[in-house]
Amino acid sequence: MEYEPVIGLEVHAQLLTEAKIFCGCSTKFGGAPNSHTCPVCLGMPGVLPVLNKKVVEFMLKMALATNCQINPECSFARKNYFYPDLPKGYQISQYAQPPAEHGWVEVELNGGKKRIGITRIHMEEDAGKLMHDEHNPVSRVDLNRTGVPLIEIVSEPDIRSAEEAAAYLRRIHESLVYLEICDGNMEEGSFRCDANVSLRPKGTEAFGTRAELKNMNSFRNVQRALEYEIKRQQYVLEGGGEVIQETRLWDDTAGVSHSMRSKEEAHDYRYFPDPDLVPVAIDEEWLSAVRKNQPELPLEKRERFVRAYQIPAYDAGVLTSTPATASFYEATVKSFPPETLTPTETPAIAKAASNWIMGDILRFLNEDKKDIRECPITPAALAAMIRLIREGAISGKMAKEVIEEMYRTGKTAEAIIKEKGLVQITDEFALVEMIAEIIGKHPDQLVQYRAGKEKVFGFFVGQVMKATQGKANPKLINDLLKKMLAGGT
Ligand code: ADP
Ligand code: MG
Ligand code: ZN
Repeated sequence: MEYEPVIGLEVHAQLLTEAKIFCGCSTKFGGAPNSHTCPVCLGMPGVLPVLNKKVVEFMLKMALATNCQINPECSFARKNYFYPDLPKGYQISQYAQPPAEHGWVEVELNGGKKRIGITRIHMEEDAGKLMHDEHNPVSRVDLNRTGVPLIEIVSEPDIRSAEEAAAYLRRIHESLVYLEICDGNMEEGSFRCDANVSLRPKGTEAFGTRAELKNMNSFRNVQRALEYEIKRQQYVLEGGGEVIQETRLWDDTAGVSHSMRSKEEAHDYRYFPDPDLVPVAIDEEWLSAVRKNQPELPLEKRERFVRAYQIPAYDAGVLTSTPATASFYEATVKSFPPETLTPTETPAIAKAASNWIMGDILRFLNEDKKDIRECPITPAALAAMIRLIREGAISGKMAKEVIEEMYRTGKTAEAIIKEKGLVQITDEFALVEMIAEIIGKHPDQLVQYRAGKEKVFGFFVGQVMKATQGKANPKLINDLLKKMLAGGT
């Protein structure tokens, strides 16, 4: 029997607000343990939570970006359970009245597009952290993270493969980062994903029993964990067994998951409306203010890049991978005033800028683990270098050397060319003389070429390049060689 995976993802994203969700404590990562706490987030008796308005706004940004329906009223609920990192004995979350529902995002897969539904987005507080001492039988608790704002984004069970899950996650991740509401750091836990998986016989409707996977801290891990889980369930079902509803922890080093606990049901948490917090009203005025400040989202930007600059979709994808990369690219292209360009020059420059950024600049930055905002080459300097190539002052080959030097030193292309004496030979007479000499030295190859052996042309190009140390304009070499080998000039 053939089985089909059914996958739904829950993403927890930590919001980049300065203050926690229900008190004024700092949300900064890495302070001394318990230094970012107050009676409210420590869960002392008699204290009252006050909702941080920024949290609602950040949630709304994501809700709009994922095409959700925004409810005019939402409320908070208590999710009750005991754990030492949760001093109140309950987490303030949202349950019966979520703020955003029925959304969707589009993902691209092997050229095709697919819509994945978003069930809901809601706000909640994070719990603290336990630190288990490796050498002593003690555990300590750090409550700095207690009360840090999160949004939970729950997908519909619309995902059908591990690959699709990774594509969906990338889409959610890039949206959060573009909206500047989450830093997206998976290692530090600012972007966490739980994956729910079940199998069903292909062609049937009803869902099978699901397992929930936790503890995956990269896109690759999510994909690997899902691939493993799909195989594991298939093995269980094919052996006549039953999948049990449980939570499993992914162990990336071993490449396997382990059962952590049997899965609790929502009713186990005894959710009830939090009497300390009034419902939140979201009116049209507030919504349109948020909508007005929405930045251009990655998908929109990608489509606009393809339209405006006529670059391939692949290029547009790489160039919009972060907002900073996209602005770097646009600033480079915009350094060429459109009125100075012919209609065919515009796409040529747009593609050249894309090639230099994707091929060289991103590689340098990647090697140095640097962000494009720290790039020693400015967009204007890159544009100036592209201009020098187009004017024939340097060849593309020389430019490879120049751009590396620009990156290492922060100098302009012009300064580097002067320093190194990298001047392209554009003097036709000098070249004609040199080519005549080369042809004279290789009579056999000349005969072969004239007999129709086209490949020999490459040999001559190579000889000229060697003689000029790569400093001659390749187009000029080609033109002159063609003429002269044919017996012209
Ligand atoms: P909980 O919070 O208890 O994990 P939710 O109702 O929030 O439960 O659902 C969690 C996720 O599980 C959702 O993304 C949903 O799409 C997915 N899901 C629900 N049922 C199944 C199933 N049978 N197989 C796979 N995924 C499922
Ligand atoms: Mg869950
Ligand atoms: Zn506090």
